[in-house]
Amino acid sequence: MPYAMCPICGAMLHLNVSDHAAYAERHPDVRSGDLAPEPCFSCFQELLAGDRVVTRRLVNDNVAIEPGQRGELKAIYVNREFGNAYVVALDSGKRITVPRAAIRKRRDGEG
Ligand SMILES: [Zn+2]
Repeated sequence: MPYAMCPICGAMLHLNVSDHAAYAERHPDVRSGDLAPEPCFSCFQELLAGDRVVTRRLVNDNVAIEPGQRGELKAIYVNREFGNAYVVALDSGKRITVPRAAIRKRRDGEG
């Protein structure tokens, strides 16, 4: 079973590939055993203003976002080439602007 890496957040995932020919066509440059770039479920889900979201841990040279903070997505500022900036009003009252890797949609039943 091929593996993939989410190009947005770096999550590793198994790909359930039933059609190997279609996979090879989609990733002609990926060598066998290497990680194909495919979004994980948390990054694949489309986010819209008004969605209830929760933060994921994101730490890099520029930001340190703690996971599990709940909030509402207020605005999405679009950069079609490089990805968007997401403005989140946290339930704590704080307002943060984060990249896609730092949030995911709240699951049903997650409150
Ligand atoms: Zn991801």
